[in-house]
Amino acid sequence: MFSGPFDESIIKRAIDNGLVEIAIHNLRDHGLGKHRVVDDYPHGGGAGMVLMAEPLFAAVEAIKNDSEIPVILLTPQGRLFNQQVAEELASHSRFVLICGHYEGVDERVREHLVTDEISIGDYVLTGGELAAMVVIDTVVRQLPGVLGSDESVKEDSHSNGLLEYPQYTRPQDFRGWEVPPVLLSGHHAEIAKWRREQAILRTLKRRPDLLEKAELTNKERQMLEKMFE
Ligand code: SAM
Repeated sequence: MFSGPFDESIIKRAIDNGLVEIAIHNLRDHGLGKHRVVDDYPHGGGAGMVLMAEPLFAAVEAIKNDSEIPVILLTPQGRLFNQQVAEELASHSRFVLICGHYEGVDERVREHLVTDEISIGDYVLTGGELAAMVVIDTVVRQLPGVLGSDESVKEDSHSNGLLEYPQYTRPQDFRGWEVPPVLLSGHHAEIAKWRREQAILRTLKRRPDLLEKAELTNKERQMLEKMFE
């Protein structure tokens, strides 16, 4: 599952340039018995299978080598993943992500092995792999040198609490729909001012809930208050 996303484009380049190392471990390598079993029926009955504690502890302990690093379980019951959580994870030199499957993992894994639990949204996936890919992709593009320009990360939606301003490329006129003239003016200060205003207005329109925590100047807050008068 991981080979597609990690063998393409920006993530692949980051790996090739030694900016990040992503190691994928197969739980089956730590499975029990000759069939390398990793799951069993739930105590108390009920549908589905549960990943056993023993192979999960063995797998994580083999990776950690006694070092204190975050061990994160991907689960729909975890704290919600967002840009701030991605920045927090990007500040660690290493972390482990555990992908659940079937009905999830034995509760003792959550209680005694895991140090954090992350959900990528209020819905249920069949397994943690897609969630891990979302987390890894978001964290890797935060790392210095991964994107062409570090500026573009700072202006992305959610980085400063705002959604990003509208983007245009050539042609200037497409089917009569024109690029805003300020973007063609070559006047950098005016362009920056327009983009900032657009980012604020766009956030107000689409995600007003974000504005409360957004980094706004007093003048910008006053502008918003005036709009509500
Ligand atoms: N029975 C579990 C529950 O209700 O909480 C759901 C298990 S789900 C079918 C199987 C695995 O997919 C989980 O163990 C987890 O690793 C992963 N998963 C599902 N939804 C997820 C989400 N929103 N965020 C992160 N991981 C998720």
